[in-house]
Amino acid sequence: MTQKNPFDILFEPVDIGPVTAPNRFYQVPHCTGLGHANPAAEVALRATKAEGGWGVVCTQEVEIHPSSEISPFLEGRIWDDADIPAHRAMTDAVHEHGALAGIELVHNGLHAANLSSRVAPMGPSHRPVDLLHPIQTRAMNLTDIKALKQWYVDAAKRSVDAGFDIVYVYAGHNMATLMHFLLPRYNNRIDNYGGTLKNRVRLLQETLSDVKDAVGGQCAVALRLAVDELMGAEGLQADDEGREIVTMLADIPDLWDVNISGWDNDSATARFEPAEGYQEQYTAFVKDLVKVPVVGVGRFTSPEAMVSQVKRGVLDFIGAARPSIADPFLPNKIASGQAEHIRECIGCNICVASDNIIAPIRCTQNPTMGEEWKRGWHPEKSRQTDKPEQTLVVGGGPAGLECALQLSLRGFPVLLAEASLELGGRVLRESLLPGLSSYRRVRDYRQNKLLQAPLVQIAFDNKLDAQAVIDTEIKHVFVATGACWDDSGLGRQHPMGISRTADAIPVLTPDSFGSITAQSKRVIVYDDDHYYMGGVIAEALCQKGHIVTYVTSANSVSAWTEHTLEQHKIQARLLKLGIEVITAQRVLEINAQGVSFANVYSSIPCEVESSCVVLVTSKTPDNSVIDTLQTMQDDNKANFTTLSAVGDCLAPSTVAAAVYSGHLAARSLYANEEQKLYRREMVLHQSAENVHQSD
Ligand code: ADP
Ligand code: SF4
Repeated sequence: MTQKNPFDILFEPVDIGPVTAPNRFYQVPHCTGLGHANPAAEVALRATKAEGGWGVVCTQEVEIHPSSEISPFLEGRIWDDADIPAHRAMTDAVHEHGALAGIELVHNGLHAANLSSRVAPMGPSHRPVDLLHPIQTRAMNLTDIKALKQWYVDAAKRSVDAGFDIVYVYAGHNMATLMHFLLPRYNNRIDNYGGTLKNRVRLLQETLSDVKDAVGGQCAVALRLAVDELMGAEGLQADDEGREIVTMLADIPDLWDVNISGWDNDSATARFEPAEGYQEQYTAFVKDLVKVPVVGVGRFTSPEAMVSQVKRGVLDFIGAARPSIADPFLPNKIASGQAEHIRECIGCNICVASDNIIAPIRCTQNPTMGEEWKRGWHPEKSRQTDKPEQTLVVGGGPAGLECALQLSLRGFPVLLAEASLELGGRVLRESLLPGLSSYRRVRDYRQNKLLQAPLVQIAFDNKLDAQAVIDTEIKHVFVATGACWDDSGLGRQHPMGISRTADAIPVLTPDSFGSITAQSKRVIVYDDDHYYMGGVIAEALCQKGHIVTYVTSANSVSAWTEHTLEQHKIQARLLKLGIEVITAQRVLEINAQGVSFANVYSSIPCEVESSCVVLVTSKTPDNSVIDTLQTMQDDNKANFTTLSAVGDCLAPSTVAAAVYSGHLAARSLYANEEQKLYRREMVLHQSAENVHQSD
């Protein structure tokens, strides 16, 4: 007798207005950093999601008109008919796999600076744009309002022409004109579009109705709405106007895509929202008020949690951006009883950071993300080798694990030597730090697969030196020995290291700070790295009862985490913990009393007393094995066919970079020159049909 799949409910078809989704897996709109400049890459990325079983696959936000464009960020565009073919390519590719295609139409209001079109941005009222540009929106007049509705209608019609099944009206993330109209802090109009809630909702209501009329039942119309801003009474609240807005609009859309605002709340990192389904408390009410399907997100990666959402009537569709990035084949794995092989999102927001730094999307867990077209990589398939020769991977951190996994998937026998008794390297160590437990998933997914792989042998407790590597007589060697934190202070501010007196207080690093004892009451954490580590160490030491002073060369705590949407949360957390924060400092000297600093701008000195200091400045690659082997190879004392350094021992970077490096090296073994290349998209000169009228 065949066993019933306990997750069958997730594979039921669901009607969305005039269209039917094949299952409940719904890739909600999400950015990729590819957008209108990289249409082929965008198509391949979305097609991979559809192939992996997502029943609905959406675009990222797609600008409807040049009066609202968010360059230099690369989102989608549907300004005119010339944009249709790129979208048509996406819908065709998605349809080929039986999924529905959705498009999120946006007018960005005060979230657009219009740096490319140079049109004065517009919003409900005069306001500075919400980006760091000295630019303000002009208040829309009634002609603008009429035009906005028409742009939406035109874009919706083009979306139908492009083959979309679901057209979105977007009022979320504090990034959309239609949301800005809802909020009194942005809307102080005194006409029919401002003041009372009924008036503030009017534009959204009219736009939704116009779009619905325009598509005339040829596709579904979805509303993406933020129902709470987590700002208390200062913003939209689910139990107040959020609920009222849903009630007022309940009968219009064919689907509700609900979340919380801004993006930092919706895409909260695991450090700040560790639990799956963390949005339920805010969005669950929507299902009770509407008769059409509801989709919501919450970094869902386990089928049990998904089934629970559906059975308890919280959601009809399991929405996912990040879980679908980390594993485009998540639905198919659940369908085939392979849920234990889901590459679970770790909630680090490296994907989000890509968009924010205007780089093509990347993912810590999924090195193929964004590389589907560029390198022809598939998340679940690799080119099989016809030369299944033995390989050796030295080091079982993220780079070594990924390298070993890919080699084995390609059909190479692998010996993985790991110095310690456990796999994982830095991710295992870091997973013990406050808020980073999910980092362990990088190890767990790969370890789980490797332990079941027939071609893989793991040698624990085996620290190999160069001679030991040669003694294995293996000809394909990948060295992934990692890196350690530098204790000299070498970094951006101190390219030659930090000076210290002979009687200086003890200097530690993130690798050794665990040895700080209770006797060291006062501790300084000096951060010249600017990613998460300095802030995390400060938090950990504070939890252990130390009096912590966090000093950084930047102007804010963990400055780079601005891109992962965490910076303000980290700074708030440190301040609430009572950690003293001192910014913009370089170190003059570490001495017997503590550390002398100087302001990086004014050079005004500042002394901080302390019993020890933790330097978080840079890492030193552990390249002794690879360098010795390389020298021996150069001197003809060794004869490797392949000798590669991967991950942090090549160049210390993010976990995502280490995983990518290991993956690339494994894919490159016996690749021909063409297979090693990556493609880039060429922008062709367009004809006059691409010309836009200025207002
Ligand atoms: P990466 O991010 O590049 O994977 P990590 O520092 O996380 O780097 O991991 C490096 C791993 O390599 C660690 O698990 C470490 O124990 C292991 N390792 C380091 N040197 C050796 C060696 N000589 N032989 C075997 N394993 C090693
Ligand atoms: Fe998840 Fe991090 Fe991958 Fe984004 S980059 S999908 S947060 S694992």
